[in-house]
Amino acid sequence: QEEDEGGEEYLFKIVVIGDSAVGKSNLLSRFARNEFDSNSKATIGVEFQTQVVEIDGKEIKAQIWDTAGQERFRAVTSAYYRGAVGALIVYDITRRSSFDSVKRWLDELGSMWTIHGYVWCKRHEVLKSVFDFQHFGVLDSICCAVCLKYPVYLDSAGSGTKGLVERALVEVKVWLTHCDTAVARMLVGNKCDLDNIREVSRDEGKSLAEEESLFFMETSALDSTNVEAAFEVVIREIYNNMS
Ligand code: GDP
Ligand code: MG
Repeated sequence: QEEDEGGEEYLFKIVVIGDSAVGKSNLLSRFARNEFDSNSKATIGVEFQTQVVEIDGKEIKAQIWDTAGQERFRAVTSAYYRGAVGALIVYDITRRSSFDSVKRWLDELGSMWTIHGYVWCKRHEVLKSVFDFQHFGVLDSICCAVCLKYPVYLDSAGSGTKGLVERALVEVKVWLTHCDTAVARMLVGNKCDLDNIREVSRDEGKSLAEEESLFFMETSALDSTNVEAAFEVVIREIYNNMS
């Protein structure tokens, strides 16, 4: 099964993020195992589920990551985002505060490829003094990009290499723009079965999605509405981005 004639293997890492109790774990269990759990459990205990999806006759493995409750403590680490090529940002249509949090989750997602920047992150102070970047997410990203592209300067970054880092920075800015669009992002308004106690209208969700260039769907992990569709749109978009 693993060895197709084509020999191509697709493995997409997709992260599910959003406030606690919006239904992330249930969306995943509905998609991967067609199960729903009415008891809220902060931790399901697995880091991710792998689901095989077929697109254009190609077998694609979607490795979908669940936060396992860390979002409660705002402790979702960069390891969680590492290598992700797709994201579902989930809110609960019956809880406005979870919708208001979407921007914060998008910000965090925007700095997801800080991953390789550990070495550089130790040097925050150096870069900070040279470029005076306020936003730590952006700063991390730049550290990361400079580190990847100009590894030689890692050990010698300081005032002496200012020119080199500045040159790298110009390229990094271009790269930042690309990276942003390379992650397939879907805004998900979950619990649409609870229309009678809705606090966020469909139109509000839709316009936020348009504003932020995200796909948008309302779902219900309870009655299965759009669950498969939401994941599949993201997977298809990743696939399209690659080819
Ligand atoms: P997470 O913290 O984001 O992973 O949220 P959970 O998946 O643990 O769900 C939180 C609570 O919301 C649980 O009690 C679920 O049963 C409930 N829930 C999740 N999805 C839905 C849904 O689509 N409709 C309804 N009515 N309840 C849901
Ligand atoms: Mg959960």
